[in-house]
Amino acid sequence: MDLEAIRANVAAIVAAVSPAVVCAVVKADGYGHGDVPSAQMALEGGAQWLAVALVEEGIRLREAGVEAPLLLLSEPTPADAHLTVKWNLVPTVYRNSFVDALSEAVGDGPAMPVHLKVDTGMHRVGASPETALELAHNIEQNPRLDLQGVWTHFAVAEEDDEYTRTQIARFDDVVGRLAAMGINPPLLHTANTAGGLAYPEARYSMVRAGLGIYGLRPAPTIAPEVPLRPAMRVVSAVSHTRRYKAGTRPSYGRRRPLPEDATVATVPIGYADGVSRTLSSVGGEALIRGKRYPYAGTVTMDQVVIDVGDDPVEVGDEVVVMGVQGSEAVSAEQWAEWMGTINYEVVCHFGPRLPRQYRRGCG
Ligand SMILES: *Cc1c(COP(=O)(O)O)cnc(C)c1O
Repeated sequence: MDLEAIRANVAAIVAAVSPAVVCAVVKADGYGHGDVPSAQMALEGGAQWLAVALVEEGIRLREAGVEAPLLLLSEPTPADAHLTVKWNLVPTVYRNSFVDALSEAVGDGPAMPVHLKVDTGMHRVGASPETALELAHNIEQNPRLDLQGVWTHFAVAEEDDEYTRTQIARFDDVVGRLAAMGINPPLLHTANTAGGLAYPEARYSMVRAGLGIYGLRPAPTIAPEVPLRPAMRVVSAVSHTRRYKAGTRPSYGRRRPLPEDATVATVPIGYADGVSRTLSSVGGEALIRGKRYPYAGTVTMDQVVIDVGDDPVEVGDEVVVMGVQGSEAVSAEQWAEWMGTINYEVVCHFGPRLPRQYRRGCG
C-alpha cells in the first residue's frame, strides 16, 4: 500500500473542491487499504473529516487514537446510541426512534452534533423530504442535540447528469424550506468522489470522498485533470514451478489444458485472499518479470497456477496480481471488467489474510 499516494490523492481532491472541505471515507477497512493508515494519510493530505459506515468502524479508529471528527454514514440502531456518544462519533440520523435514543444517551452531557440525511433519490436510507423537515424541527427543539449537518447521497453521479441535477434541486428545496423555518445547519454535503469532482455546485461545505482517495476513479471520464494514483498493489511470489506437456490440466476440476508444453508457476495466493475463483473461467492475468501471463487452471483457496510458457521463471520471482510491474499493469478496472463488477468491489475484496505492507512511495 502506497501511503504517499493516499496523501497525494487527498491533497489533489482538497485542491479541486476547495473551499469545500474533504471528508475522507474510510469505511470497509479503507476500501481494503487499511482504515487506520488510510485515515492518518487522509488527514495529512488535508482531509478535515473522516467517515465510516458503522459504529464498530468508528470505534476502531478512535481506539487507534484518531481524533478527527468522524461521521457515521448510516443511522446506528437505537441500542448503539450510547456508543456514538461515548466514542464521540457524529451520527447520521433519519428516524425519530434513534433521535429519541440518542437524546436519552446524551443525558446531561454536552449537546451531541448530528447530521440529518435526506433521501433525494438514492432510495436506500434517509428521511423523505417531508419527514426530514419534521425531524429537523424536533432536533432543533432538543437542547441535547445540535443539528450540525444536513446531507444527501447521489445514486448516479458518475453517469446520469439529469438525475443528479434533480437530486441537487430536491436537496436545495429542503435546505430552502429549513431556512424558512429558521433552521440553518452549518454543514451541507451531498457529494461522493464523482459528485465532488464533476459537479462544483454539489460541493456545498464538504465532499465525502472515498474511492478517489485510494487513487481510483468512479468512471474514466470523471475529472481526468485531477491526478489520482492507485495506492494498492497486490503482490506475491512464485513458490513452485514445474514443466508439463501440452494437454496437461493443472488444478481442481482439470478445466484448462495447457495449449503447449509449458512451465506452470504456482503462487501462494487464492480466493481466501480475494483472488476470486471466477477469474479461472473468465480468464485473469498476472505479471511476472514485467510480462502478462494467464491463469493455468482453477483458482484455489490458497494458491493459483500460472502458465508462463517457455519463459525463465523461478521460485521467488515477484508476481503482481494487481498493480504495476515494469511497463505492464493489471489495474483494478481491468479486474472489474473480468469480474463484471466495479473497481470499488475489487479493492474491497483483498482480504485480511494478505499481509499488508505500507510504504511511502512505491513503484
Ligand atoms: C461510500 C460513501 C461515500 C463515498 O463514495 P465514493 O464514491 O467512494 O467517493 C460517500 N457517501 C456515502 C453516503 C457513502 O456511503
